[in-house]
Amino acid sequence: MTSWPEQTPTAAYLHIPFCQQKCTYCDFISFAARGRDCQQAYVAALLREIGIVAANRRLLPGGRPLPLRSVFVGGGTPTVLPADDLARLLAQLRACFGLAPDCECTVEANPGTVSEQALQTLSAAGFNRISFGLQAVQPHLLHLLGRIHQAGDLAAGVQAARSAGFGNINVDLLFGLPGQTIQDVDETLDFVLDLPVAHLSFYGLILEEGTPLAAAEARGQVRLPDDALERRQYHRIRRRLAGQGFVHYEISNSARPGYACRHNLVYWQGLPYYGFGLAAHSYADGLRLANPSDLDRYLAACRRGAAGPAGWPAAVVNEQVDRQEAMREMLLLGLRLIRGVRDRDFQARFGISLFERFAAPLADLRRQNLIVVSGDRVRLSRRGLDLANQAFGAFIGA
Ligand code: SF4
Repeated sequence: MTSWPEQTPTAAYLHIPFCQQKCTYCDFISFAARGRDCQQAYVAALLREIGIVAANRRLLPGGRPLPLRSVFVGGGTPTVLPADDLARLLAQLRACFGLAPDCECTVEANPGTVSEQALQTLSAAGFNRISFGLQAVQPHLLHLLGRIHQAGDLAAGVQAARSAGFGNINVDLLFGLPGQTIQDVDETLDFVLDLPVAHLSFYGLILEEGTPLAAAEARGQVRLPDDALERRQYHRIRRRLAGQGFVHYEISNSARPGYACRHNLVYWQGLPYYGFGLAAHSYADGLRLANPSDLDRYLAACRRGAAGPAGWPAAVVNEQVDRQEAMREMLLLGLRLIRGVRDRDFQARFGISLFERFAAPLADLRRQNLIVVSGDRVRLSRRGLDLANQAFGAFIGA
């Protein structure tokens, strides 16, 4: 653990905002059905943005980019782009920043958008982790969610990814879906656990305002399961994965030993990262930066090619993260991890004990049995895992 603020990120996120069609629950920055011209302009902008940020860091006093230890290409659906485009983007990161020999390079994929040939190209380019969005296996649930694939597409995608050399495969699942039963969850787990996957993410559905699914719920056409059933589904997933040798390491993530997602660990530890692309966020040099979420504005900024605030050509938000905020963040994000936060790590970064800095909210959360303190470590209790937002709320304004 280095002291705060850490200067040089070793993780990069690239946002690809294209999808084949928009899912009914999705409020991510992504668009359906953009033409190839738009995709090409976007890839050119990304290549340029990466080059400008890297060059600018070389100009900082004593500064030079460190080799990346983690690259995550997400979206959207990155695999709607031709694999050659994704390979060029990874090559640009390699040329501008360097990639550590063990760099974890993840690409997100929708099971309906991958071919064997594309997976071979991605693997040859250096991607070594692939993350498939499955969500569920029941056709009626996939239809409700507006997903473009069926369960069989995932099985074919996973097998093709293995043949192409991907040894580290994640599958995303959703629970708490309208009409989803415990049996549905079991059936989905049966299906996925039959496949050679190393990591599973499982998120409870949140109805986001403005999405078709939220509108359907508001009209009374669909109903979410009650809290008790949603929590039963969550615990069922955790228990079954544990029974199969997966380690539950974050509220919504379990992995085979050694396969925790390196990129997300950067976020959960409050460490710095680069973000490239539309609406991407960066955290570097004690600054939080955000690119515009308007595509034309992002493309124009990258075309202009001026380095802009703190070296980012497109950033429209550029805020200094103060020390107090950084301390709160390390605790809040770190509590998402099942192992929690170690005081010695906190002290190494901020020179103060977390038990001193957050004495009042921690005492309150202990009284409510939402956290457990063991040795110099604080973590969410079992009750705290179910009421994580309530626990996190105790630190607002602390
Ligand atoms: S594939 Fe993913 S990013 Fe694209 S619309 Fe569906 S949920 Fe959103």
